[in-house]
Amino acid sequence: MRNKIVAGNWKMNLDYQEGISLFSEILNMVGDETRGNQQVIVCSPFIHLYNIAQQSKDSENVFVGAQNIHQNDSGAYTGEISASQVKSTGASYVILGHSERRAYFGEDEKLLEVKLNQALKNGLKPIFCIGETKDERESGEFWDILAKQLKETVFLLSNEDFANVVLAYEPVWAIGTGLTATPEQAQEVHAFIREEIAKSFNQEVADNTSILYGGSCNPKNAAELFSQADIDGGLIGGASLKSRDFLDIINVFN
Ligand code: 13P
Repeated sequence: MRNKIVAGNWKMNLDYQEGISLFSEILNMVGDETRGNQQVIVCSPFIHLYNIAQQSKDSENVFVGAQNIHQNDSGAYTGEISASQVKSTGASYVILGHSERRAYFGEDEKLLEVKLNQALKNGLKPIFCIGETKDERESGEFWDILAKQLKETVFLLSNEDFANVVLAYEPVWAIGTGLTATPEQAQEVHAFIREEIAKSFNQEVADNTSILYGGSCNPKNAAELFSQADIDGGLIGGASLKSRDFLDIINVFN
């Protein structure tokens, strides 16, 4: 049975103390409960990683992730952070392929493939994001674009490595805009992604892959989105910065 996951992406928000306090609140509410195959992941700025990974090291359902890694092992890359450095904090996940990194930092499929391998080699599980822009959706070419985003990155991995990948469908037009994909629109894409995984690997691999929805997900729309057959949870931006909203989304699975 695949994992049901609610992941928070704090992006470039919260100072050190604010992040530590928010994480403590989340951990206190969900950290000790037995939640079966449900996982909560918090992807914080680098400054919080060590503290929050240590806070949650005994939790069976709360995990910590970074939002980026550099593609090289180490060296003269001023201001960058490597996968092994992230791993050494106790974090276990990293978001890769987010549309903000694609758009503002020029990350393309070629670079993302290197970063994926770098994460996996260092024992970090990628939360790999794909998604189309508004223009791409309206022109109808988005199916090809989504397939390309998969084929040139995660579909090049071995079965063994792909088993450690969580996928996230984040339509760019829905991120931070208050515009959410309808449950039907999201389900249609999630089913397509699962079919593509089955074609590239096999049905069993496809059935075991968690595919999250991201883009203006909030306590009001999460239940309907997460009830769709191929939606296994969410990647939450703005609503993950408020403990009550994030917990309400987490509790959709209870
Ligand atoms: P919002 O939930 O703020 O739309 O952000 C979604 C997102 O980009 C998560 O990675």
